[in-house]
Amino acid sequence: MLTFEKGAALITGGGSGIGRATALMLAKAGTQVAVADIDPVAIQQTVSDIEGLGGAALAVPIDVQDKQSVDDAFEQVEAWHDGITILVNSAGILRMDTFEDFDVETWNQVFNVNVTGSFLCGQRAAANMKKVGYGRIINLSSISGTRAGVGRTAYGTSKAAISGLTRQMALELGRHGITANAVAPGATTTPMTNEAYTEETKALLLPMIPTGFIATPEDIANAIVFLASQQARYINGHTLPVDGGYLASGMLQTGSISLN
Ligand code: NAP
Repeated sequence: MLTFEKGAALITGGGSGIGRATALMLAKAGTQVAVADIDPVAIQQTVSDIEGLGGAALAVPIDVQDKQSVDDAFEQVEAWHDGITILVNSAGILRMDTFEDFDVETWNQVFNVNVTGSFLCGQRAAANMKKVGYGRIINLSSISGTRAGVGRTAYGTSKAAISGLTRQMALELGRHGITANAVAPGATTTPMTNEAYTEETKALLLPMIPTGFIATPEDIANAIVFLASQQARYINGHTLPVDGGYLASGMLQTGSISLN
């Protein structure tokens, strides 16, 4: 059975998709959850759902790319609970265009949310976790951080940066009882991917996923929750693909041999 250190879990992007599924799962496991997101309606919804399950949650508005907003959000959580022992950086955005047409404003926007947001929240959480002498930081990378995908110029590069940021956190924070890891989801059905995964895209994608299906947010949350547990104490600095085998797979046919 997984166990969790006493303290609050702060989940950015907790209003939607993978962050929301993680917030609900951690709450069911008995953790008090601060649900942080840029969408004020969505955070209230996640909080009510957690309360409906008998759990304790706090709605925290945040814009992760803005240092003042991050400081305000952490102050709100620290006033609610002095110890933050889990941070999940799930807030993120996907913007797509070809490499040649990608404009620099959109590039900066993607990096500000996906990379700077995780950096700012990680820095602020680490200061709190050091006081407790314990912490679990889980960042959200992506299969796009390892393999290029059409349109993912900024998104994929930002997710590769998340693996670097995770290693840096792991190295510098490990001696304070804090671990940092990243989860790299494969294709997952969430509001973020609604537009990107048309029926045509899915037909091309599915044969490349050995398990043969697209993940639910809960498939990803299961891995995040494990990394957030006390049992994951010796896993530090890694990026774990949760992708149905997408990154492990290669050729689909060799001569007359093919899978059916
Ligand atoms: P999602 O459903 O869109 O959830 C992301 C949440 O973050 C949304 O509520 C979004 O609000 C919020 N957000 C956006 N910008 C923010 C900001 N500046 N400050 C605070 N919150 C902000 O996406 P998801 O699919 O769950 O993705 C979660 C994480 O997993 C992301 O980092 C994503 O890159 C990563 N990931 C997802 C997949 C996938 O297939 N779904 C695959 C690999 C990696 P708005 O909706 O208002 O923007």
